[in-house]
Amino acid sequence: MTSPFWKDGLQFACQRCGQCCCGEPGIVYFSPSEFDALCAFLKKSKNLDRQTVISEYMWRCRDSYTARDDFPDGHCIFFDHGCTVYDVRPSQCRDFPFWRQNLTSREAWDEAARRCPGMNSGKHWSFEEICAVADKARL
Ligand code: SF4
Repeated sequence: MTSPFWKDGLQFACQRCGQCCCGEPGIVYFSPSEFDALCAFLKKSKNLDRQTVISEYMWRCRDSYTARDDFPDGHCIFFDHGCTVYDVRPSQCRDFPFWRQNLTSREAWDEAARRCPGMNSGKHWSFEEICAVADKARL
């Protein structure tokens, strides 16, 4: 079995530029427990009740919800000069860029890095650290 190209680790440190929060429409999936945490956060910070969060911010997705992104530039509804729910962002966002699709080859990683200035710079992530993220990543 050949070793993955990231066997010696990879560099990544988020610059909080928000480029991964805008662009192509997609799924920003909150698991049931992540959605509970989001609702608690929005209740405390904006006094929004759960039903309002659902009707104004979310679409139904699988067993839970995805954040709306039906805007001309495709931005996540929680993006406003940065992530407005950063402390309760879902694991999908926390796990980027160590998504399986980016780890399939050096080419896939470097292609993703063209849109993410945090990749290939900053903190060095070991093989074990990347495995820990990739193993739980849903994407
Ligand atoms: S594109 Fe990369 S550097 Fe920019 S916010 Fe997303 S993860 Fe961070």
